[in-house]
Amino acid sequence: MTSLEIHQIPVLDDNYVYLAHDPATAACAVVDPAVTGPVMEALSRRGWSLTHILNTHHHGDHVGGNMTLKEATGCTIVGPRADAARIPGIDVQVGDGDTCDLGSQTARVFDVPGHTRGHIAYWFEGSDALFCGDTLFALGCGRMFEGTPRQFWTSLAKLRHLPDRTRVYCAHEYTNANADFAVSVDPGNARLRARAEEVLKLRENGKPTVPSTLGEEKATNPFLRADAPDFQQAIGMAGDDPVSVFAETRRRKDNF
Ligand code: ZN
Ligand code: FE
Repeated sequence: MTSLEIHQIPVLDDNYVYLAHDPATAACAVVDPAVTGPVMEALSRRGWSLTHILNTHHHGDHVGGNMTLKEATGCTIVGPRADAARIPGIDVQVGDGDTCDLGSQTARVFDVPGHTRGHIAYWFEGSDALFCGDTLFALGCGRMFEGTPRQFWTSLAKLRHLPDRTRVYCAHEYTNANADFAVSVDPGNARLRARAEEVLKLRENGKPTVPSTLGEEKATNPFLRADAPDFQQAIGMAGDDPVSVFAETRRRKDNF
């Protein structure tokens, strides 16, 4: 089976928009189109025709291009059922356990509330690709605008179950700042320190640090390590419940 061709478009200050193209059928999705112009340019440069918009959540820097792209291409807009009223132009509502077809490729949909109450993620297992919006970032997670620590931790734990080889296509290039915070709370983590150095080098050379792999995130992302004894020890919460450890880690990041 062929896999998706994924093209990453940096837009605005630090957003990533993704084109996912199925070579077998020419179906092509854009994930979280913050804007229209750069998406249309990338499509025409590749000779791809847009068939779908996949939205992860309602924030303007993820749905800003929905209506203009739909008008220009007639594409179908897929988004979270739990937040359908806030997704401009939504045609197909999906939620936990649903699948979403893109040509010959199929994504599994997960509800991952925490950053917003209706946030979803799309996992294309056949392409080892996870589009997770602002839920999981490289070395971080989104701000907790609408959810509770329990919801957010449950969402992250759900994504953590996916295979290590899964590529994490998150929606922002926040990795360097996330690395500074991660090292401050988890200074004894040798893999994290090595990764933080790599991230700095990539950014100094103007290169993206995204996608990462879920295997890297499991070992180095503090927000996926709230139940790891060595991490709990590092932040002075040995034996505490993971929800409280997650909440404290999120609180410290907000004040970092
Ligand atoms: Zn957001
Ligand atoms: Fe965002």
